Formats: sequence, C-alpha cells, structure tokens
Amino acid sequence: NLSGDAYRHQHEITVTGDEVPSPFSSFEATGFSSEILREVHSAGFSAPTPIQAQSWPIALQGRDIVAIAKTGSGKTLGYLIPGFMHLKQCRKDPRMGPTVLVLSPTRELATQILDEALKFGKSSRISCTCLYGGAPKGPQLREIERGVDIVVATPGRLNDILEMSTISLRQVSYLVLDEADRMLDMGFEPQIRKIVNEVPSCRQTLMYTATWPKEVRKIAADLLGNPVQVNIGNIDE
Ligand code: ADP
Ligand code: MG
Repeated sequence: NLSGDAYRHQHEITVTGDEVPSPFSSFEATGFSSEILREVHSAGFSAPTPIQAQSWPIALQGRDIVAIAKTGSGKTLGYLIPGFMHLKQCRKDPRMGPTVLVLSPTRELATQILDEALKFGKSSRISCTCLYGGAPKGPQLREIERGVDIVVATPGRLNDILEMSTISLRQVSYLVLDEADRMLDMGFEPQIRKIVNEVPSCRQTLMYTATWPKEVRKIAADLLGNPVQVNIGNIDE
C-alpha cells in the first residue's frame, strides 16, 4: 500500500511482521465507535499520533504488538482504545474479574492511565480501577468485588492481591505491559511472570516500551505470540 508506506516514511515508522495493515492517518479511518470519536474530538485531538496510527489497525485485528516509542508519543490511547473496542465485542461479567489488564511500573503512571481510561471510556460506560502499593488494600479489593472491566495495576500490588485469591484473571483476554523496560529495570520480572501465568494463553498481548534491550526482547519472546513490531524513530538499545 503506497499511501501507507508514504505515511510510515514521513513519520519514521518501521514495522516487522506479516501483512502489516496500513496506518490510520485520521480518526475517521479507525472505525472507532461514535462515543469514542466524540471523546477524542472533545479532547481537541486533530489526528492520531504515529504510534496510534500504526498500532490501532494491528491491535484491532486482534494481533499481538510490540511497540517501541519514546515518552510522550501517545502510547496510552494506543492500547486503551483498542481495549475499549475489544470490550465492546467480548464484554464479560465484570464481577467475575476484569477483561482488560494493564501492568504499569509505578503508582503515578498507573493513576495517569486510569485517568485517561476514565476520560475516554466514560461515554462507552467502561468501568476501571487502579491497584498500586503504598495505599490500603481494602478500598482496592472492594472495587474488584464490585466488578470492573479494566484493571490498571503495578505488578507488586497485583501479585499481593493474587496471592490473597481475591481477584481472578481467568477472564483477561487483553493484556498490556506498559513501560516494559522500566518494569524490568525495577525488578518486577518475577511478579510479571507470575501474573501472566494466571492469564489464559488465548489472549491478545500488547507490549509498550521506550527502549529495546535484550531483557525486554526476551520477555517479549516468552509472553507474546508472533507479534508485529512497530518502531517510531530510532531504536535506542
Ligand atoms: P506516552 O505513554 O507515549 O508517554 P501518553 O499516552 O502519556 O504518552 O500521551 C502524552 C500526551 O499526549 C497525553 O497528554 C495525551 O492525552 C496526549 N495525546 C494522546 N493522543 C493524542 C493525539 N492523538 N493528539 C494529541 N494529543 C494526544
Ligand atoms: Mg506511557
């Protein structure tokens, strides 16, 4: 696809994988629901960022993705909106556990992701909550009991809650590892592996990272299935 290639060239996007779909150069091309389109327009966004433009059509095909792009490139909505569309197609009973799980390295980042999910998922009536350490578990457990579609969690706290058997990840079918490089730098690899072991293997897995060192490549090779790799700009090893 020539125009797809031109867009990639212009925005320094490189892709690796089989039959990678063309980027969406506009919001209208995405086929997102009218509720979601309304939210992005009211946020004042004029076009998808390059990582969104290229990762959205891949994610909407249900494929695994490794996306390598620097901070501030719009990765959060890059995985959240396809997650919303995933929920539209296969929403389960949230009281039995979340359908979408996002792992994030820190409380601060997890909170930012939750804010973005609340803002852009509100009119689609998507429920979400955040699990992080340094705060009492009680209110977090009550949110889980009440039932949520999306859980955004730091690996440490989620692993603690899993060990208490107060959350089931058996319904998770859309798993995101955000800032994977930072999570590994912080030593979360054992917790991540324990958590992912609780998620059924028939899932879609998306990994977002700013850098692509060999530890990240290794965990991607272990946890993702035949992913499409998307790079924006130069790869920083
Ligand atoms: P990253 O995770 O890559 O560091 P974020 O997802 O946090 O980046 O996005 C950075 C900022 O850009 C956020 O304030 C977000 O709301 C905004 N943003 C996301 N998508 C767009 C877009 N298509 N157009 C303009 N701003 C956007
Ligand atoms: Mg981010």
